[in-house]
Amino acid sequence: MIFKYFKGPIDEMSSLVNETSICSICKKTDHCFELDYTITDVFNDDDKEGKLGCYACLREGRFEFWHDTEFGLLDENGLDNIYKRDIAVPASLAIEKLTELKRTPQFITWQQGLWLTHCDDFMVYKGTWEPKDFYSNSKDGDGKALFMSMTDEDMNHLWDDSLPENKNILEEWYSTYYVFECSHCGKLRGNWDCD
Ligand SMILES: [Zn+2]
Ligand SMILES: [Zn+2]
Repeated sequence: MIFKYFKGPIDEMSSLVNETSICSICKKTDHCFELDYTITDVFNDDDKEGKLGCYACLREGRFEFWHDTEFGLLDENGLDNIYKRDIAVPASLAIEKLTELKRTPQFITWQQGLWLTHCDDFMVYKGTWEPKDFYSNSKDGDGKALFMSMTDEDMNHLWDDSLPENKNILEEWYSTYYVFECSHCGKLRGNWDCD
């Protein structure tokens, strides 16, 4: 399964059934997603429960996923900036990008995930990182500096909050951190489940 906006581990795809299954839409056997919370015209809301849809049917738009993004909530009606976030929807955000993201699985989160944006586009989901991943991915070994450069100010207290007293190296934290990369400029950004 190849997605432009999802390059994370396959087991971080939400609603994906573990083994290949028979698609309820096209009847072919392939990797399938549960349709319960998807957008689809194929089944009524009452009939979606327990139904499955395959990768090919997702890419053809027989069913789609809604996504909460920094540009607003993306669903069958397009983008709706119900939260009035600071980031304006860029005029250059082509309808193809909205369609591409709707045909991309959600990533598994504890709470509702927020799809990050950069360079007037949705970023590419890379997967979850633990503190060790910040050290190993930083050019100079300064994991905290990389974390701070990736994380918005209102969320960047996680590092220091997680650091035990009298320690300089962070080994673990209580949260799950989601990493995104900009496909245009390579910028890394991330967020985590906060209360
Ligand atoms: Zn199918
Ligand atoms: Zn960028």
